[in-house]
Amino acid sequence: MQFSSFTSRFTSDAGIVQLMDDLGTAMAGQLDTLMLGGGNPGHIPAVQQFLRDRLQRILEKPAEFAHIIGDYDSPRGEPAFINALAKLFRDELQWDVGPENIVLTAGSQAGFFYLFNMFAGEFADGKKRQVLFPMTPEYIGYADVGLSDNLFTANRPEIDKLDEHIFKYRVDFHSLEVSPEIGAMCVSRPTNPTGNMLTDEEIQHLHAIAGKHDIPLIIDSAYGMPFPDIVFTKATPFWADDIILCMSLSKLGLPGTRTGIIIATEEVVEAITQINAVLNLALGSFGPALVQELVESGEITRLSRNIIKPFYQDKARHTVKLLEQYLQGMDYLIHKPEGAIFLWLWFPNLPVTSQELYQRLKRRGVLVISGHHFFPGLQEDWQHRHECIRLTYSMQPDIVEKGIALIADELKMIYSE
Ligand code: PLP
Repeated sequence: MQFSSFTSRFTSDAGIVQLMDDLGTAMAGQLDTLMLGGGNPGHIPAVQQFLRDRLQRILEKPAEFAHIIGDYDSPRGEPAFINALAKLFRDELQWDVGPENIVLTAGSQAGFFYLFNMFAGEFADGKKRQVLFPMTPEYIGYADVGLSDNLFTANRPEIDKLDEHIFKYRVDFHSLEVSPEIGAMCVSRPTNPTGNMLTDEEIQHLHAIAGKHDIPLIIDSAYGMPFPDIVFTKATPFWADDIILCMSLSKLGLPGTRTGIIIATEEVVEAITQINAVLNLALGSFGPALVQELVESGEITRLSRNIIKPFYQDKARHTVKLLEQYLQGMDYLIHKPEGAIFLWLWFPNLPVTSQELYQRLKRRGVLVISGHHFFPGLQEDWQHRHECIRLTYSMQPDIVEKGIALIADELKMIYSE
């Protein structure tokens, strides 16, 4: 069978395909694997309880159940949910946002596919534009969504060593260049994979640069504020006319409903609605139906702040302690955990590449992600990208500890070979 070049964009050796494959296999329980690789959120008991109760109440109202399961929503998403979101953003964050500024997507991953191909690629005047990631490492899932070649370009960060074993990336504004070929900038905040939280100053600086060049700044807030608020530092959520903010219900605990939220100008919202109509006809209704009440009452931000954030923050602290214990005496650095559900480990002068480390760990039954996948758009080779791995700490503590013990053991073998 012969496939078109469209197909080969998705069947090439995409990091995200390998990741989701590993994740799917481990989550289906087919392998006795210690899964420290994927981005699956934890099953938080209080959140699960709320969702089960809500589903029960839906089941008890046949008309509501029939509407959710049996009617197509609009290609912009369920209007009542969008109205509730707009009210939440106005009331709690004082953003000048109306329902006309909000559109849903089938997971935020689909939203990035739309946005990157909307602002980069080929234009009617024959020009080509790219998306700039002002600071790598960045989210692996961006790397392969381009429908044309060379859709991305990226900048290296400054590295700030905060402690013997703790470091933090900062945007290197001295080397950041925004040429006329740049159609948009994008950052994840908090950042997957590093757990970095770009400071308010960094965001304002990037926003000013985007404004100067008349391009949008896309902020991926999959883990950010106001929900799920997996943020451990003081930071302000930010939206303005030339910012496209992408949110998701996934890390709140609903990845299975595939609900992404985009907040943007009416023009952008309109374009995305049309793409939704062509590609999906309508959006899934289950995610909005399950969290509608939480958004209407504003409870969603309190649940995030009081339940979800501490759940991950405790796990982050515990996992850092485990790493300090098991990696004692080794040359390692942890990126300061400021949010999201990952720890990013750097082994300076690692004798093997991070991809080899990943392979060796996989053979021993522990899955991590090799850091080299997280530099989408970075052209230059940089030794640092082969010296890092990403760990997820959202799984049960015994799995995390067993995984870390095996990682430490494998590293000892590598350093002694
Ligand atoms: N953005 C970031 C930074 C992510 O980590 C993820 C998923 O892990 C996504 C976007 C996509 O999430 P979803 O499509 O489930 O909304």
